[in-house]
Amino acid sequence: MHDHPTLNDYDWPTCVSPRCGRQLWVAEAGRLVCRPCEDKTLARITELPALFRRLDSTAALMRGARRSGGGMSGSKTPPIPPRLEVLALVGPGGVAARLSAIEDAWRAVLGWTIAPWRGSPAQAVPHLVRFLGDNLLWACSSYEEVGQDIDELRKLHGECAAIVADERRPGRVQIGACPGRVGDAYCGQPLTASAASHRVHCGACGGRWETLGEWRELRAAQEQALAGTAEAAA
Ligand SMILES: [Zn+2]
Ligand SMILES: [Zn+2]
Repeated sequence: MHDHPTLNDYDWPTCVSPRCGRQLWVAEAGRLVCRPCEDKTLARITELPALFRRLDSTAALMRGARRSGGGMSGSKTPPIPPRLEVLALVGPGGVAARLSAIEDAWRAVLGWTIAPWRGSPAQAVPHLVRFLGDNLLWACSSYEEVGQDIDELRKLHGECAAIVADERRPGRVQIGACPGRVGDAYCGQPLTASAASHRVHCGACGGRWETLGEWRELRAAQEQALAGTAEAAA
């Protein structure tokens, strides 16, 4: 412990980072966030581009989809799609958008022009990370709302790191029944996908899904098919 001067009627300033609340040192006077919180946040920011690249790969998208013999239509087991939490993080509303929201807020307070368009999430993340890293010291010293951003960066890093750390071996996995239409009925063929390829192909009806957008459509169609089946059974 370090000594603080004892001052009556004076609340010694504490770190505004949620979950910290540490009293600031004399040497930290004028700061809003303690140095350990700043250091931890900078480390998280710095790790984000590499985590993002790992997530933005087919292996990460597929890993953890459950291998099982089930998933036929009529089974109570719901279809297991490509990993939606990974899709959400690498997609337009994911890591890039969440970093971008923080950059926009900081720029507004600094009175700077709004950030330029930085392309796809994969292209934007390194730029966003550089901006936040370069301006973190300012934010920790002068931006009163910085606590919520530090918490958001901790959560974002945690979500990415948890998925990357999940090292279940990739392989061919069941991803649920084919939602394609064959006449008046759903195709229902069990679909599989592999970590080695973006392509999902139904051998029965010839349906193909190859891009992230198409995988989302596949997932939506599976849910619709499942809902329709449940309705018909009720
Ligand atoms: Zn702190
Ligand atoms: Zn099919």
